[in-house]
Amino acid sequence: MNNIGANIEQIQQRISSACQRVGRNPTEVELVAVSKVKPAELVVEAFHAGQNLFGESYVQEFRDKQPLVEVPVHWHFIGGLQSNKVKYLRSKVDMIHSVDRFALAKEINNQWQKDNKTIKILLQVNVGDEASKSGCAPDELEALTHAVADLSNVKICGLMCLPPHSDDPEQVRPYFKQLYTLAQKIKSLKLPNVDMDVLSMGMSGDFEVAVEEGATLVRVGTAIFGQRIKKA
Ligand SMILES: *Cc1c(COP(=O)(O)O)cnc(C)c1O
Repeated sequence: MNNIGANIEQIQQRISSACQRVGRNPTEVELVAVSKVKPAELVVEAFHAGQNLFGESYVQEFRDKQPLVEVPVHWHFIGGLQSNKVKYLRSKVDMIHSVDRFALAKEINNQWQKDNKTIKILLQVNVGDEASKSGCAPDELEALTHAVADLSNVKICGLMCLPPHSDDPEQVRPYFKQLYTLAQKIKSLKLPNVDMDVLSMGMSGDFEVAVEEGATLVRVGTAIFGQRIKKA
């Protein structure tokens, strides 16, 4: 037994409360239900509970799962991405959150060009400057933004981060602030083909703090679907 519907409702309420605390409108924040490692049936169950946006992190798993979800959901790709796998996402996802280098953006551009379409992307920033994490370094973001903005079949919509983990969400708050500040800085450059309206930040343990700091997309897995059994 699980209670996906109740979990989603509770998370939406917590998002609303966080918005209220800082004077934001809850309609500015969208919940991405992270369904990685979880079966298609649970995605369908969440859909019937009113959730229609899902996030996936592994290309192969997404390829297998997506055809099994026979209800009209929207998908975002949020995980680390190798250029040679981008082709499997073409025409299947609405947004890619994890663009952290020009070569990847170029390949995404090439794939979507084949369909004569534009894909929304976020630039992932390594706000903790952690060696183990992907994401472009904060001081390289401006140069990356300039380069990617020239590609005609990708649209930069904002930024994403995956900050250093902490059990105390207050420890993560400075990283969310940093992402917000970086977005404001890029926005002030007024580059063509660049919006900074989307901030993808916050997960099960810290999404309320992320909302307080300006998140417009929160990526929540465990708090909706329960613990994930680690893949072998
Ligand atoms: C798995 C994952 C999440 C969700 O994490 P939870 O702690 O389960 O909410 C969010 N973002 C990314 C990029 C992930 O890979």
